[in-house]
Amino acid sequence: MRPAMLRGWRRRCPNCGSGPLLTGYLTVRDDCPVCNEELHHHRADDGPAYLTILIVGHVMAPLILWFFTTFRPDPLVMASVFSVGCVALSLYLLPRLKGMIVGIQWAKRMHGFGRAEQVARTPAG
Ligand SMILES: [Zn+2]
Repeated sequence: MRPAMLRGWRRRCPNCGSGPLLTGYLTVRDDCPVCNEELHHHRADDGPAYLTILIVGHVMAPLILWFFTTFRPDPLVMASVFSVGCVALSLYLLPRLKGMIVGIQWAKRMHGFGRAEQVARTPAG
């Protein structure tokens, strides 16, 4: 599961690690252009957004408190800097966390990932 998560973090196919996982910013490809692994089985749903909010909140909230108590900046400067920081960190994390979640689902054979090999392993009749 760990290599699949790292490949997902790099936004690469969890199977081969070289094909791009996403097309555009967040859309997962139907299949990998390099190894033809089916990727459309993923059900990331709200998971990446939830994790992004969780991480950005826990990183930025203490930072905001520390920054304010240490430097006492003008509120408008403070709001501008941390708004841009929160948005930038969210935009950075969201596709990477989506890749990780797709990687976990692929590694755990969830939601139809690996169905073809299950069918192949099942004895006929
Ligand atoms: Zn691939």
